[in-house]
Amino acid sequence: MKRIVKTIPPRNFLNWYYHRITEPKKWEDLLSNPRCPPVKFDYSKTQLRTYLFLEQSGICCYCNQNISNDHKSKIEHFLPRHDNKFASEIFNYYNLFLSCSGNAVRQKDKKFHCDTLKNDKVITLNPSKKKNLNQLIYDELGGIYSYTKVGKEAIEKLGLNNPILINLRREIISDIIFNENSEYKSSKEYKQLFIKIYGRPLEFKYQILQVLKSKMNRRDYLFIFLFEEIQELKFKLPIVLKILKNFDIYKKVPKYKS
Ligand SMILES: [Zn+2]
Repeated sequence: MKRIVKTIPPRNFLNWYYHRITEPKKWEDLLSNPRCPPVKFDYSKTQLRTYLFLEQSGICCYCNQNISNDHKSKIEHFLPRHDNKFASEIFNYYNLFLSCSGNAVRQKDKKFHCDTLKNDKVITLNPSKKKNLNQLIYDELGGIYSYTKVGKEAIEKLGLNNPILINLRREIISDIIFNENSEYKSSKEYKQLFIKIYGRPLEFKYQILQVLKSKMNRRDYLFIFLFEEIQELKFKLPIVLKILKNFDIYKKVPKYKS
């Protein structure tokens, strides 16, 4: 599961929240679509979905498959909105993510995953918290494993080893891991592939990169470790600048606590 970096909430979402006569309490208080003609301080789920879609670079927050910016993608409350304990988190931007449909369209075989399977269950592994995400291990057959309780719980409650997802991941990973004779490549080749794939859009990219790392010798692994640290710094710098520039609205927003 790739980390979803949450930046700052959409300014218009905050304007909508703070300018309502009565404080919004239910998710239904947020309109599905913008009104026509537009009304001042209005905001809608469609606009919020677009913002989350861009923030997540068009991937599902849990299974990381490519998603579309339309009704098939679902705004997910990490801490479930139907649970009264988390009523204060319903409009907390740091509790909101975008999930795939979780196979909801194929209701007959009931092989649900992601938000559709999770529903109102609570999990500890938050897609925006890096330290928990390291608890998931990826293999070349498309499987995801964990040695920890938190990791196992996430895999089970999100259906991350749903056969449909495993097959999708296995197909793309085996195309990259093996050469034309179905043999493993060299550590150096995996290192070069890692660098080549790192900056490109590719479905299940995060999972592929983890498998590539697992195939490297110690020297190449160390090189990739440093490479990733440098790339992450380059990625974070513009986000830090954006937050500093918008600090006036950022400081008003309650941060996600746990
Ligand atoms: Zn998903």
